[in-house]
Amino acid sequence: MQLTEQVIQAYAGQRRKMIEEQLVNRGIKDLAVMEAMSRVPRHLFVNSSLQHRAYGDCPLPIGENQTISQPYIVALMTQTLQLKGEERVLEIGTGSGYQTAIMAELAAQVFTIERVKPIARKSKELLAQLGYANIVFKVFDGTYGWRDQSPFDAILVTASTPEVPSALLEQLSDRGRLIAPVGGKEDQALVVFNKSGDRLVRREIGRCKFVPLIGKFGWPEEEQTNE
Ligand code: SAH
Repeated sequence: MQLTEQVIQAYAGQRRKMIEEQLVNRGIKDLAVMEAMSRVPRHLFVNSSLQHRAYGDCPLPIGENQTISQPYIVALMTQTLQLKGEERVLEIGTGSGYQTAIMAELAAQVFTIERVKPIARKSKELLAQLGYANIVFKVFDGTYGWRDQSPFDAILVTASTPEVPSALLEQLSDRGRLIAPVGGKEDQALVVFNKSGDRLVRREIGRCKFVPLIGKFGWPEEEQTNE
């Protein structure tokens, strides 16, 4: 699709409504996060047949059994990372690339890893078309993190895992923070780790439901194919 200004700017009313009803009303406070979410054209991150539902209060399918996260969860996770513009961020699970775009608006550089090649290819193309020049992509098992590029000021995991892979915690910078959905396949806690020197403080900020993080230090691949 030709990304004309008109196509990019479409659904402005729905975008405003999403911010008001799903974010402000539920206690999202970070203005920079809300401004980023009012700029990024979420409707372009889903299949054209689902565009009219892109601003709804729910995740949506993006193919290959994966989903684009619910807007509120994107806002909550991003707000928790407290991005100020200087950070190097690692994202595990590029998916549609929507969360990637939001963080690219708010941080210096985003490193994003996706295990499914066609998904990665599609989001890389869209994010380039939208003009983002501060995103680095990799197709790999993100449970290893990205050691060459570490340390990261913030790490965001957008697939659920029984435990946070230790490599990710090791790749945090001195004042780094990580957020990940941790728990079983049906429902997870949103877990935040704050690092301060060699201290790591863990807290939970809510419940969520993400697709599984599949890889060496996440869920094994075969369990996924049995579902
Ligand atoms: N933030 C994304 C969420 C996509 S769903 C969005 O809103 O669009 C989670 C993504 O994580 C899927 O695309 C899935 O393929 C990917 N994923 C699962 N296990 C992974 C792993 N070990 N490494 C990298 N990506 C993984």
